[in-house]
Amino acid sequence: MTTAVPSRAWTITISSPTGRPLLTCSECSQPNPMTGMPRATEVLQHLARHVLESRLPPHLRTCQCRERSCAWDRRQAPCAGALRLVLIRADQGRTWHLADTCVACATAIPQAAAVREPPVPSSVRPGAQLPGSVCMPEEPGEWVESL
Ligand SMILES: [Zn+2]
Ligand SMILES: [Zn+2]
Ligand SMILES: [Zn+2]
Repeated sequence: MTTAVPSRAWTITISSPTGRPLLTCSECSQPNPMTGMPRATEVLQHLARHVLESRLPPHLRTCQCRERSCAWDRRQAPCAGALRLVLIRADQGRTWHLADTCVACATAIPQAAAVREPPVPSSVRPGAQLPGSVCMPEEPGEWVESL
């Protein structure tokens, strides 16, 4: 029996069907209304949470571009190099992908930037977060700032 390996690729799209921006995430079933923070910050904080939830040892990671038949880089060459966590900003900031890809794919994908893994929060604060308030753990915040 094999355990399903979580696919380390997330896509966020921003739309505003009712005039208010909504953040739709491939991992979350419900669209999230955006809080009014600068878009990139909010997208990155959302993505950071998913990365932290789905840590995988390096040998279990696969090139997520390859998993999609290289739909992101549109080349025919084989994968090569180490796996990187790559942030792709597409569609003028309305679509964001964060995924593990190999170096060869990452360099061929337009608007892709290799980012480092967000650090594991040393202490995750218990309790509900108030909507609109910035109470993410400090470390992902710093991770967001450094991108
Ligand atoms: Zn999500
Ligand atoms: Zn590829
Ligand atoms: Zn690849």
